[in-house]
Amino acid sequence: MKHIRLRRNSGLAIAAALFAAAPFLSAQAQQQHAHVHGQMKLDVAIDGPTVVIDMESPLDNIVGFERAPKTDAEKKTVADAIAQLRAADKLFAIDPAANCKLGPVDLRSGALGLGNPDPNEPVGHADLDATFSFNCTNAAAAKFIDLNLFSVFKGLRQIDSQIASSQGQFKRQLKRPTGAQAAQPARLGWGK
Ligand SMILES: [Zn+2]
Repeated sequence: MKHIRLRRNSGLAIAAALFAAAPFLSAQAQQQHAHVHGQMKLDVAIDGPTVVIDMESPLDNIVGFERAPKTDAEKKTVADAIAQLRAADKLFAIDPAANCKLGPVDLRSGALGLGNPDPNEPVGHADLDATFSFNCTNAAAAKFIDLNLFSVFKGLRQIDSQIASSQGQFKRQLKRPTGAQAAQPARLGWGK
C-alpha cells in the first residue's frame, strides 16, 4: 500500500516538474526556431484596407553572412538586397483582386545598422526583420500572395507563414521549389 502511494507521489512529482519546465522548454524551442538558417517567418495580416507582411529572417538567408559587410563585394550584396526589399511589390505580388499598392517598408537589422532592431537577437547571429505595408482598395478579397523570395534570396529554403484575415487564421509552410518550378513564384494561398 505504502509502496504504491510512494510511486504515485513520485509520478506526480515528475509530472509537476515536467509542467514547470514546459514553458521554459517551449520558449527556448521558439527562440531556436526563430533563427534557423534557410528558414524565414512571414506573418500576413489583412486588416481593413491594408495588407501588412511581417518578415523575420536570419540575415544569412538574405546576404549570405551575419555581420556588417567588409569587402566591396559584400557591401554591394547588402545594397542590392536592401534595394530588393524596398521594392517589395516585386517580392510580394498580392492577389490582383485586392488591388494593392506598396506603402511603407520598414527594415531592421543591427548588423547592417538598419532601423530599430530586435534587442533579443540570438548571440553570434544576426537577423533582418522587415514590415511591408500595402494599401488596397479591396484587401479582404486577397486570397493569395505570389512570393518571389526563393528566386531572389538563394539561401532561403523554407517559409513558415501565418495569415490572419477576415476569412480566418491560416498556417502555411512553403519549401523552395525545385526543377522547372524553381524560377516560378511560390504561391502563398489561403481562404476559399
Ligand atoms: Zn545565424
